[in-house]
Amino acid sequence: MEKTLTYKPQNAWETYADAPQRKSMEALAVRYIDFLTRCKTERETVDYVRERLIQAGYGEDFAGERVLRPLRGKALFAARRGSRPLEEGLTLIAAHADTPRLDFKQRPLIEQPGVAQAKTHYYGGIRKYQWLARPLALHGVVIRENGESLTVNIGEKPDEPVFCIADLLPHLAQKQSGQTISEAFEAEKLNIILSHSPKQGKGGKKDKDAPKEPIKEQLLDILHKKYGISEEDLITAELQAVPAGPARFVGFDKALVGGYGQDDRICVFTALEALLTAEAGQGNMAVIFWDKEEIGSDGATGAASRFFQYCVEDLARSWAPGVPASHVLLHSRALSADVQAALDPDFQEVHEKQNAAQLGCGPCFSKFTGSRGKYGASEADAEFFGQLRGLYNAKGIPWQTAELGKVDLGGGGTVALFLAAYGMRVIDLGPAVLSMHSPFELASVADLHATLEAYKAFLEA
Ligand SMILES: [Zn+2]
Repeated sequence: MEKTLTYKPQNAWETYADAPQRKSMEALAVRYIDFLTRCKTERETVDYVRERLIQAGYGEDFAGERVLRPLRGKALFAARRGSRPLEEGLTLIAAHADTPRLDFKQRPLIEQPGVAQAKTHYYGGIRKYQWLARPLALHGVVIRENGESLTVNIGEKPDEPVFCIADLLPHLAQKQSGQTISEAFEAEKLNIILSHSPKQGKGGKKDKDAPKEPIKEQLLDILHKKYGISEEDLITAELQAVPAGPARFVGFDKALVGGYGQDDRICVFTALEALLTAEAGQGNMAVIFWDKEEIGSDGATGAASRFFQYCVEDLARSWAPGVPASHVLLHSRALSADVQAALDPDFQEVHEKQNAAQLGCGPCFSKFTGSRGKYGASEADAEFFGQLRGLYNAKGIPWQTAELGKVDLGGGGTVALFLAAYGMRVIDLGPAVLSMHSPFELASVADLHATLEAYKAFLEA
């Protein structure tokens, strides 16, 4: 393509216009939809990644050339040895596997008129009203007193029941209609209906024979019969309510993918595919998938923990004895693989359009994150950005650049700053997503393909 003096992001649909490319794009999207449908929590995502890596010959012994290390089933590091010395650093892609959702409280069960419900505590940035009046599935684990773990996944198969938070009838919502959104939708009203039928009394004449909370007791009977669990077992559980049902193609042209948790599973999926399919090259490639990004990255499995550093220390001991891990970290190059908010067609006014991410224009660089006067930002240096721009232009991979919303009105963070803390070069790069953080996020099939190409080219470079 002839270079012009003006700049305009390339439309990825034009870049990938020929029939075989379109065919492979659709095939990738079909696999991606299956992944999104199967993996709705960080545990399920890490399990999926682990399985794919093991199939590809990755093992937990760091003496090997292809290594992986999961942490508590919620975070995972993997690396693939290249011919260049580890001293030159890793080529790393980092993404997060957790998503906004409703967690069960530790003592969740209550009975209210006509129903037994689970009280929830929301996780991450949600718009509460989006979780009302829609089918929900339960995913997670229950840990029994003896340490045994019970995996829960109910509400996804067509013959399984789903769960639901009721919403108010419009006729009764007149007062609510005048309230602000935060007043109208209270966190303590995000109670999920689990059951409705009451337990029968023992048939005695006295009141004391009637169950005190008949619906809750009936529910506990069912839970005990089906899963062998009691109310106390729910205290040591991690139960997450997520939108029920599969991810789907969206639109007559099937050019969008709709589904829950694309922030940031689209980056987990493409980074994993990139690691598995990249040509064996000179550089030492690695990926890390973290948990807890949606709540600030704290915790053992989050990006603020030392887990990644410990993995690199062990890798250095094994692949480059005598080379300090700090040296490897300082000389590494990383993509913080996270999604960017797409220009919303119906709320264009919240974006500064020239610097907003466009659906379908390839993965999006964010040179910096943070908010207001770039507070809390990790800012990539122009030199590193320039290298990547040159790489992608040479390979004909579409890319764009954006910041999150108008200055002083938008902003946000990613895991980039936790990697930047080691002194390594890092920049955010990920596809645009519409309806981000909603139960049904939208991403472009062309961006999915372009993002995979971009991650692969980065790892191979
Ligand atoms: Zn994210």
